[in-house]
Amino acid sequence: MTTSTPSDGVTPRYPDSRDILEKLRFLPDEGQIWLGEQRMLLMQLQTMAAFRHEIIHTLGLKRAKSFFLRLGYHSGLKDAELARAVRGQEMSVEDGFLTGPQLHSLRGLVKVIPLALEIDPGRGHFYGEFEWQDSYEVAIIEQLESALDEPVCWMQLGYACAYSSQFLGQEIQYREVECRGRGDARCRIIGKPAHEWEDHATFAEHFREDPLIDELYELQSRIAYLEDDIARHKGDEHYRPIGQSPAFLGALDLIDRAARSEVPILLLGETGSGKEIMAHRAHQQSDRAEGPFVAVNCAAIPPDLIESELFGVEKGAYTGAVQSRAGRFERAHGGTLFLDELAELSPRAQAALLRALQEKQIERVGGQQSYAIDVRIVAATHGDLMERVQDGRFRADLFYRLNAYPVMIPPLRERRDDIRLLAEHFLARFECHYHVKTLGFSDQAMAMLRVHPWPGNIRELQNLIERGVILAGDGNSINEQALFGQQPLPARGQVLGPGGQLTSALDETGGEATTRLAALCQSILDGGISLDALEEALLEQAYREAGSNVSAAARRLGMSRAALDYRLKKRGML
Ligand SMILES: [Zn+2]
Repeated sequence: MTTSTPSDGVTPRYPDSRDILEKLRFLPDEGQIWLGEQRMLLMQLQTMAAFRHEIIHTLGLKRAKSFFLRLGYHSGLKDAELARAVRGQEMSVEDGFLTGPQLHSLRGLVKVIPLALEIDPGRGHFYGEFEWQDSYEVAIIEQLESALDEPVCWMQLGYACAYSSQFLGQEIQYREVECRGRGDARCRIIGKPAHEWEDHATFAEHFREDPLIDELYELQSRIAYLEDDIARHKGDEHYRPIGQSPAFLGALDLIDRAARSEVPILLLGETGSGKEIMAHRAHQQSDRAEGPFVAVNCAAIPPDLIESELFGVEKGAYTGAVQSRAGRFERAHGGTLFLDELAELSPRAQAALLRALQEKQIERVGGQQSYAIDVRIVAATHGDLMERVQDGRFRADLFYRLNAYPVMIPPLRERRDDIRLLAEHFLARFECHYHVKTLGFSDQAMAMLRVHPWPGNIRELQNLIERGVILAGDGNSINEQALFGQQPLPARGQVLGPGGQLTSALDETGGEATTRLAALCQSILDGGISLDALEEALLEQAYREAGSNVSAAARRLGMSRAALDYRLKKRGML
């Protein structure tokens, strides 16, 4: 074992830890602690000791070691993200790098003394040497286990490997060359690019030795790939209903009960709530499952073309009809016809549809011949169809025929328990589609997904997650910014003061903001701008910058969507 010391003899020094401490938020009233976007736990050393003891006895020493190396590894990946976010732009690479050891100390795991640190990203050179004082893993050993004949600071070592590799973008490995846990005078680690260690391949095995985790990940991604593959052949994956909430299961149950009958089903629900998926479910659960499923979005077809789309056209029926072709009804023969946005049908199309349903036969536009059709109708609307019937825009006789079995599809905000499930589903799908493997959602991103009002329902969720996967990319967490395009840290809560005691976040960070605000107010007063004009300008700008998205604008203004909606409408801006 060789020991190198820094050539210039200067010990690296930590940058001021204040910027990191400010990322630590205690929300005692809500039972939460946050570090950046990650929710943290404050747990007893004794608990960790009992856990480690049990893992060693369950898995054996060798696998337990790998297990804890990986546990630390995961933590290191997350901290490297935080380090780059907080300090990546503003500090030298060495100072930014020292965030990791600082975070390790902040967490109370160990006191890290940097002995040597050489980073040259251009040449891919790295050499790091650190002493660990008061390692919690040594403390655990002293309590529970008899002395081992090898180093014991596993989790910390895994952390160092992951943190350095992720931070520097090249594989770095560490060895604990001395450890108090095996009777040495101190704990000391050395880190170098993996290929500079002779046994680097063997060591890397620790991070994938336990077949369970990697194999599960591997299987998961293979399943997602296969599902996608199968879906391409069968077109089914997009139609798989997903959810466990009572509201969703209730609707699904109603669909399944009606599926085998021939009764027309009318699906009611907001845009994007998954009505087509439910229509397809009715088709699949019916005796017509082997037949075709044909979907028509009535709102997407120009009114003067809807009849020829639905019923087909005979050659020469009108200029341009140079060839006869079948309509959607004929193509759905023996299967199910899904009429989405039913309320948008023109009066003529309504009349033709009613005739087709009554006589079970259709005539193509411009044709003489009747075609018998055997089609099960599932219709859907997001508007209030009854209202349209009352003011004469929708035929009552057609409405009552189609409204035989109405099913209400709940909006996403009424099935919040399904959000995680749906989010994971779309995540797997888009990871497979874009060939990336993210670290999943940050805790805060998931929390925001759960509270978002979802005016666009599942379609909106799907779009956000696609965006999140693209923005996060390989090996990163999908954070709130990637999903919603902004990154507000909760302004409430408490932070650690310089002395380590809890103080109000506003007291700590509000000083500068207060000064800025005062300056802004002064210039507004000097400019003779009225409060009313100021409010209007502020609302207008927030609304415009949010791309006319009221929810997003409301988040920026720190107000509820309803409150902003009210103000915009009051001013005639919406
Ligand atoms: Zn040690």
